[in-house]
Amino acid sequence: MTVEINQHNSKLFWFDLEPNDEKEFITIYILVDDKITLIETGPACSHNNLVEGITKTGINLSDIDYIVPTHIHLDHFGGGGHIMERCQNAKAVVHPKAVSHVSNIEKWWSGSLAFLGEVAELYRKPLEIPESRIISAENGFKLELGLSSLKALHTPGHAPHHITWINDKSAFVGDSLGLWYPKIGKAFPVTPGYYRHDLAIQSISLMSELELDELFYTHFGPRMSEGALKQTLNEFKDWMRIVEDGIEQNLNSQEILDILFLTQDGLKLTDIKHGIHQRNTHLGSVEGMMNWAMRNNETK
Ligand SMILES: [Zn+2]
Repeated sequence: MTVEINQHNSKLFWFDLEPNDEKEFITIYILVDDKITLIETGPACSHNNLVEGITKTGINLSDIDYIVPTHIHLDHFGGGGHIMERCQNAKAVVHPKAVSHVSNIEKWWSGSLAFLGEVAELYRKPLEIPESRIISAENGFKLELGLSSLKALHTPGHAPHHITWINDKSAFVGDSLGLWYPKIGKAFPVTPGYYRHDLAIQSISLMSELELDELFYTHFGPRMSEGALKQTLNEFKDWMRIVEDGIEQNLNSQEILDILFLTQDGLKLTDIKHGIHQRNTHLGSVEGMMNWAMRNNETK
């Protein structure tokens, strides 16, 4: 593949990583200030594409100061160790709960295999990162980059170790606001097995208070934030209501997803435009929501 670089503004580049030739799935961002920051790395399998993309922006690997994932799911940071080996002057900045996983990968890898199965194999095994090269980012942690900064906002829900990175009036949102489909103009939830709906809603509400201008999704690309947080919040709440109704009627995840395809404007189009893969992604989200609803009812 040939990586195409998009220059979003004077300090931000992004490109489509195309892991295993999958287009419009993973966005890699590079923020250029006095310090140079790579945001997200993608999985280990697309290491060569990542190197090609960075190099094409004219940046030397040795000039990268920080490598900053939103969270360590394999599609976001599975390639973290690989790129850290090439960027010898960089530090990785992760959530405190992720530090032990990226410095000692066995539990991380076995958990990923258990959760993702053969998809984890497709992404390939991460390399570990020495603890001396890892910065642990508490909530509110600030990375000074020169004229601007990146501030860590802990946004659990999708994952307990998820961080949204705030850069002035914009944010690198990872998976905390779901999946953004620029051609459809909608975002839909992405809620894996140990999803916490209560925390996800709290995280979205927190972001709504920040008066952001732009959102930078990993899946996929930039979005103007006007109306976005409201649309997302409504979507998460609608899905959960439909999932809870479905559980009450003893429907399975496939049947609940079929209802969502009928009720949620634009959702069906994600399947048509991105192939069968999206149906499976959404099915995983429905199952994550079902798990949460059932756990939540047990504790009531
Ligand atoms: Zn994730």
